[in-house]
Amino acid sequence: MKINEEKIKILEHCPLCQEKYKKGDFFVVEEGEQGKTLHITCPVCHHALLARVTVTNSGIYSLALVTDLDKEDAIRIAHRKSISQKDVLAFHKLIRNNSEYFMYSLTK
Ligand SMILES: [Zn+2]
Repeated sequence: MKINEEKIKILEHCPLCQEKYKKGDFFVVEEGEQGKTLHITCPVCHHALLARVTVTNSGIYSLALVTDLDKEDAIRIAHRKSISQKDVLAFHKLIRNNSEYFMYSLTK
C-alpha cells in the first residue's frame, strides 16, 4: 500500500507551533514493504519530528516524536547496524574487566 504522508492526520501540523506542514518539509529517511520513516522539519519553529508510518492489514499507524536529529543524522542512524545481544555482553565484559580505566575515561 502506498503511503501519502501528507494525508496522515498526525503529520499535518507541527505539534509545537501548529504550523501546517508543506510537501517540501517531509524527507523519507527509509522506506520498506511495511512502511516508512520520515524526517519532518517545521518551516516556522525549525523543530523536527521523526515519524514512523506502518502499514498493516488493519490500517495505517503512525508514531512521531520530536527530535534534535537533522536529516543526515536520521539517515545515518536508520542505516546503522543494530546492536546485538553479543555486542551488549562484550561491552559489559569490557567495562567489568577495565572498570577503573572506563570510569577514568568517563570523567576525563
Ligand atoms: Zn513548528
